[in-house]
Amino acid sequence: MPALERLCEERLAALEAQSLRRELVEIESRDGVMIRVNGKEYISFSSNDYFGLSQHPEVIEANIEATKRYGVGAGASRLVTGNHHLYAPLEAALAEFKGKESALVLGSGYLANIAAITSLVGRGDLIIADKLVHACMIDGAKLSGAKLMRFSHNDVEHAEMLLEKYRGEYGQCLVMTESIFSMDGDEAPLKALHEVSKKYDTELLVDDAHGFGFPHLQTSLADVVVGTFSKAMGCYGGYISASNIKIESMLNFGRSFIFSTALPYGLISSINKSLELINQEKYFERIYKNKYYLCDGLKKPTIDHSGKSAILPFLVGEAADAVALQEKLKQEGLWVSAIRPPTVPQGTARLRITLNVLHEESHLSKLVEGLRKHG
Ligand SMILES: *Cc1c(COP(=O)(O)O)cnc(C)c1O
Repeated sequence: MPALERLCEERLAALEAQSLRRELVEIESRDGVMIRVNGKEYISFSSNDYFGLSQHPEVIEANIEATKRYGVGAGASRLVTGNHHLYAPLEAALAEFKGKESALVLGSGYLANIAAITSLVGRGDLIIADKLVHACMIDGAKLSGAKLMRFSHNDVEHAEMLLEKYRGEYGQCLVMTESIFSMDGDEAPLKALHEVSKKYDTELLVDDAHGFGFPHLQTSLADVVVGTFSKAMGCYGGYISASNIKIESMLNFGRSFIFSTALPYGLISSINKSLELINQEKYFERIYKNKYYLCDGLKKPTIDHSGKSAILPFLVGEAADAVALQEKLKQEGLWVSAIRPPTVPQGTARLRITLNVLHEESHLSKLVEGLRKHG
């Protein structure tokens, strides 16, 4: 066997021994929050499609109509021939929604973070990021060539200490965080981070992937907001919202924007529709209601009950125990994903519960029962 393949096998075996090996699970069908796997029905608590918009009839119809009219693939990057007229109203609406001058749509949230970070900072610059920011922000930081430092989760004093000590040694500086943290469901102290950033002549970049559609968040305090259409919007794709000149820079220097094909037309049309629905309906109220119901029912404390988001972490500790609990809940017809290192820090493996507007009280009480029995 070639040496490289043997090495791959050894690495996978090492993961297996730590209960960290990942594999794909085939979903046979999906209807609301119900999923079918291996012939069995489960209530799902692990979709980021919080508002159920991926299955909303109007969002689906928008996709079908645009696809019939314009075809499926965009055929080229937006800078070549892929800049369809559906983009202008979407980007104007996004800019307004985020309280910025301008917005740019890209292929995914991952690609949006890469473009935003690499087109703003480079060698000789500094990035100060929350310890728990998403992997794609770290990848963007590494690709940019800027020096990356981390501050303890939501610890503004620690961020300030780093700025005070090191800011002077670098050119530009970017502070990075998330509006709602993807694995803890808690909020970043955006106001305090904004103030500290300004004090040290630094810009604030916020990834709003899990905050979209939760209006209390002060993301407009950020200089750059990055986000995704794949979660609350129920679609796919990403965006950046910032000042005109920054967006122009990303269009010219953001390699993950320039060298990647534009999103399919049907999708852009669906995204426009989802945004319209989120502006009209107060989906977030239903999420809070479901979250409070669940928290009230659970004995065991989770990491943070208070985050006004769709995410509720149920802390377990060891990866093997989290996987065992996940399997026990499956036997009860409940689908809740175990999240293990390196996605979360060592010793904090957990079940990540996500609330959905389509969850009914009977679904929630079944989860409470399951967690009381096995958790
Ligand atoms: C999901 C997520 C992303 C990636 O977005 P995609 O559109 O799925 O590529 C980026 N940042 C955060 C914080 C996320 O949770």
